[in-house]
Parts: sequence; structure tokens; C-alpha cells
Amino acid sequence: MNSTLPTYDDVAAASQLLSQVVHRSPVLVSQTLNKRLGAEVFFKCENFQRIGAFKFRGGYNAVARLSDEQRRAGVVAFSSGNHAQAIALASQLLNVSATIVMPHDAPAAKVAATIGYGARVVSYDRYTENREQIALSLVNEQGLTLIPPYDHPDVIAGQGTAVQELLEDVGGLDSLFVPLGGGGLLSGSLLSAHALAPECAVYGVEPEAGSDGQQSFRSGQIVTIAPPSSIADGALTAGLGTLTFPIIKEYARDILTVDDSQLIQAMRFFAERMKMVVEPTGCLGAAAVLNEIVPVRGQRIGVVLSGGNVDLAAYAGFLQTV
Ligand SMILES: *Cc1c(COP(=O)(O)O)cnc(C)c1O
Repeated sequence: MNSTLPTYDDVAAASQLLSQVVHRSPVLVSQTLNKRLGAEVFFKCENFQRIGAFKFRGGYNAVARLSDEQRRAGVVAFSSGNHAQAIALASQLLNVSATIVMPHDAPAAKVAATIGYGARVVSYDRYTENREQIALSLVNEQGLTLIPPYDHPDVIAGQGTAVQELLEDVGGLDSLFVPLGGGGLLSGSLLSAHALAPECAVYGVEPEAGSDGQQSFRSGQIVTIAPPSSIADGALTAGLGTLTFPIIKEYARDILTVDDSQLIQAMRFFAERMKMVVEPTGCLGAAAVLNEIVPVRGQRIGVVLSGGNVDLAAYAGFLQTV
């Protein structure tokens, strides 16, 4: 695996490769919010991306860049979330066989969606088995290529295309707020922002219960934590990656945190005022802005809404929470 750090050139190359397959997701605004904050906020709506999240960008870029030999053998990913669907759909479009390692108790809708995109699902018992070991044995025994969810140069470069589009569409920004899990989206966004809007302050936003990113950023080295508990299920990573961290350390302004009640408030805001479903993890950046965790008045602000995949029963419950 190529493990040199990606640059903006890699984002630009990914953008070429993705131009025919990704949706150029809309940038939406709310006058109500702008008035309330005294700011201009631009939401990059990756909840309307294929598979319902930005992860299709990095997944497609990574599968498309495999050698012919690797493509013939197929790919494997372990995930119960958006990365699984991203690799499944990208592989289907590129005629590559995909195996997704998922816990046996993963939500039925997610398993069905993954199978629907043509992937083979290998399930495991999350209490007694280790998904990385299962994936690695498929790599060793069947010659599959493992596509990790964030710590891979082609994944990072692909994720960077969302903010590249945002900056092309709206021009310069004073600040940008990006959901943070393992840091693929944030590091790719930083490459784009540094190249296209170097004055823009870029913030990663993670769940308060899992503030490993903030601890890492502020201490200057990767801090890992026990699996945190938050409704932001796409950002429950134990630590930043060895490729994503150096980019975040160099270019991010800071890492902020929000709690679950702030995520719920943001979900309600999007449902009520903007008529959109945004998943809890997708609301991380927005919740930091809505709660003015850092001053925003008078600014032009970008916010990445990273995804919209949420179990409907859980979502109904979130909307009812007061
Ligand atoms: C994966 C994911 C994230 C976090 O992305 P990283 O690249 O791991 O930081 C944020 N939002 C959604 C919707 C996701 O699926």
C-alpha cells in the first residue's frame, strides 16, 4: 500500500476520476439561521450523495485506482456503516467483487443495502471474533485488497473533493466545520481548503464522549481511547490515522466537540427548517456552528453535512426528544 501523504494534486486527480460518477451535491442555505447568527452559512449536503454519505467519494477513488490484478482478485472492507455501502457500490460500478465483513447483529437495513449493491457479506460475532483478523485472513487466503475507511491516501484524496466542490461553488470562506471520526474527511477537506482558500480556518468536530481527536491535536501525538458511546455512530473511532493525523496537525485550526443533545437539536433544525434528514454524525459540524462553539458572527461559513443514513425508528425518537 502506498503510504505517502496525499496532497491537493491527488484531490484534483480524484475529482477528475469521480466527475462522472458522484453527485455534485447541493449547497443549501437557511435565511432563518443566517439571521439568527448574523453570518452566512453554506451547507454542503453530502446527505444527498450516492449511498447517502460522502464516503462514496473516497471508496470509489480507492477501488478505481487498484491495479488490474488487484481488481480481478476483489476487495474487502470491514464496516457496519457508510464505508461498507460505499465500497459495495463503487465495486459494483467498477466490476470488482467486494466482500464486506459486518457484525452478525448489524441493522438489517444496512446488511440489505450492502447486499443490494452486489457485495458478499461475511458476518462475525462482535463479542467473540475480531473483524480485522477476519478481513486479514481474506487478504491472505484469497488475495483480496483491504480498503480501510480513512487511513489510505486514495480514500483521503477522494473525500477532499466534497470541500473542493463547495469552495468552487461559493468562493472564499472564513471558516469551515467538518465532522471528524478517523479523519479521512477532515484531512481531505484540509488539503482542498489549504489549496483553494488558504485563509479559511478549518475545524474538525467530534463527539464530546470520544474526544481523542481534540486530545491528539492539542498534545501533538495520536491519542487512542476506548470505544466511546455517542449517537454519532460514524465517528466512534478509537484514534486518528497515521496518514490523517499529520495533515490535521499541520493545517487544522482546532478540533471542537459537541454532545448528543446538541446533535439532536441540529437534526431537529434540519428536519423542521430545511426539510432534510441528516444523520447524527452528519450534524457534528453544524452543531458546532448552531451552538457558536467558536465565534461565527459576520463570517462566511462552510459546513459539511456528511451523511443522511439513520435508522428511521431511531430518527423518529430523536425528533421527539425535547
Ligand atoms: C465516516 C463518517 C464520518 C467520519 O469520517 P472520517 O473520515 O472517519 O473522519 C462522518 N460522517 C459520516 C456520515 C460518516 O459516514
